[in-house]
Amino acid sequence: MTTDRVRAAYLGLAIGDALGSTVEFMTPREIAAQYGVHDQLIGGGWLHLRPGQVTDDTTMALALGESILKQGRVEALAAAQAFDGWMRAKPVDIGNTVRRNLLQVRRTGNPEAPYSDHDAGNGAAMRVLPVALATFGQPEASVRAACRAQAHVTHHCALSDAACECLVLMVQDALGGASKNDLLHRHAHPLAARHPEFKFRAVRQQSNPSGYVADTLQAVFQSFFDTDDFRDCLIDVVNRGGDADTTGAIAGMLAGAVYGLEAIPEAWLKTLNADTRRACERQAAALGQG
Ligand code: MN
Ligand code: MN
Repeated sequence: MTTDRVRAAYLGLAIGDALGSTVEFMTPREIAAQYGVHDQLIGGGWLHLRPGQVTDDTTMALALGESILKQGRVEALAAAQAFDGWMRAKPVDIGNTVRRNLLQVRRTGNPEAPYSDHDAGNGAAMRVLPVALATFGQPEASVRAACRAQAHVTHHCALSDAACECLVLMVQDALGGASKNDLLHRHAHPLAARHPEFKFRAVRQQSNPSGYVADTLQAVFQSFFDTDDFRDCLIDVVNRGGDADTTGAIAGMLAGAVYGLEAIPEAWLKTLNADTRRACERQAAALGQG
């Protein structure tokens, strides 16, 4: 894997989060009325963010990445402690499932949430990137096990697992040089074949995607596979509204891994919060050594 693509994946995650957060929970119609096409890192949104500021999608990924670097591997209890520390530091936003299950971990000391088909939100899938980097080159079964270990701290659910594992294997394949067409046929279509909830072709365009992980990936895959560069992909996905910071983050991670650093618009890179940018670059370098 090239350091260029690893950095681009991490910066793409953060940029997608920062871009999408402005229009999170808006409908495409509301976005069009207010911005025409939303295509700049201007902050604002329901969280009243500064331009280039990121939300939980990026900061949870960074917290997870720190725990992996400290342990030398993906470890459920260390991840749970890192997320708990992250929650205590009063993040700008936090998902309901994440909060509920982190409070449960605090009470029980068990870093695995009880199984629930209702915990099918995108909160575990949005933060998978450090797992993809840390387990690059490992046998597929270990990669999948690491995915579930981090995910189950807050989301213990078959659909969330399927999404997390698919995204991690996709990112790793992209970082290894696979084409978008390879990713489509090796990962995205097989996911939809196993779990029809994720079907994204020959279905309606996902508009106003919710935090349900199948809605989220449907929007991400439609934007990612139907555009040809980083900028178009991110603009397409966040202008669908809904959980736009999270679709933006996941799409940004995939697009960064495929298109590389030079495809990321300079204006977006420059506006991304400087501390966030440094943290992403540091983890990309440290975790991406393989
Ligand atoms: Mn968020
Ligand atoms: Mn979100």
